Amino acid sequence: MDTKDRSGKLTGPVILAQAKILEKRLPAEALQVPQKQEEEAVKGETEQREDAAAAMEEPEETEAPSLRIVLDPGHGGPGLTDEQELGAIYRDTYEKYLTLEIARAMEEELSQYGNVEVFLTRDTDKAMTLKERAAYAESVGADLLVSLHLNASLEHNFYGSEVFVSAFDWFYARGAGVGQSILNQLTDYGFVSKGVKTRLGSKGADYYGIIRECKSLGIPALIVEHGYMDEDSDWSRMCTEEALRDLGQRDARGLAAYFGLEKGTVLGELPKPEESIPAYAVAPDTTPPEEVWYKKELQRDGRYLITLHGAERESRVMYYDYSLDGGVTYSRLNLWGTKETIQFYLPLTGEEELVFRVYNNYELRTGTDG
Ligand SMILES: [Zn+2]
Repeated sequence: MDTKDRSGKLTGPVILAQAKILEKRLPAEALQVPQKQEEEAVKGETEQREDAAAAMEEPEETEAPSLRIVLDPGHGGPGLTDEQELGAIYRDTYEKYLTLEIARAMEEELSQYGNVEVFLTRDTDKAMTLKERAAYAESVGADLLVSLHLNASLEHNFYGSEVFVSAFDWFYARGAGVGQSILNQLTDYGFVSKGVKTRLGSKGADYYGIIRECKSLGIPALIVEHGYMDEDSDWSRMCTEEALRDLGQRDARGLAAYFGLEKGTVLGELPKPEESIPAYAVAPDTTPPEEVWYKKELQRDGRYLITLHGAERESRVMYYDYSLDGGVTYSRLNLWGTKETIQFYLPLTGEEELVFRVYNNYELRTGTDG
């Protein structure tokens, strides 16, 4: 999750058996810059010009294309009070441990495909700023950075997977393409998709630091928020080592599918992904659903049929919840579906103070109580 949005509070010592086990398995050595990179850095300018001249005279056989993918396990670091280092804190564990597990599984899976080299911003529980992560990606010549996260929400009610990308031109197109392909894999696993989204800061730049820093270095980046740690159904798909491995494998398969990578095969060339580059910044939805109303009708069998309406032009209606006590307590979030008007039955006496709230996929809501 994004630490600025975080809702988790430190509620005392929450280090747990699982975290300790994970920590023990972390290799001690620091990340090493791959040799090729060092060689290139040492190469003088003259030598490079000679290379270019030689290449023009007798063309070499073209090498198989190789994508350089940087995986970025969100958060990390030894601090026990630093929210940026810990990430979301729920279920007696920290997001930083889970994202590392996912990243390792994604690396392992992706490494089985041809035409790809995989790098991790961190393979230990170490603190890194977002700028350092982006700089690392640049140092290995990254074509793409995938930042791996788990979510949490203020009222602990949201669920689903979502992907954040840059709002701008090719950075949007590439991020959204890979992101949607990964979301397809996650919905197969049982997550609900909240979609590919953008978020802008007050000055109109990308809001999320890792996306902004990578873009400034020419690297497209996406943030994959797999699901909500503080919601039971999402948690069930990330609460064991097997589940986390499954998540990482699905991320890898989504990415591989987008780029046309094949397992165990090095292709002579890769298919060019179809990408439409937006002419303008892809703005996030900043307004809640409109035209929200409901109607309740007593049926012959004594049940109440509810008709609920909500319109959304900029994004999509995603969930609704309801209160039977005038807005004091609410039901869990229910999925909306694809239509502007939905119908369902509620077991009511008719005396309830019914209130509905309708949400878009940007978590903005409109209630029927004004
Ligand atoms: Zn996070």
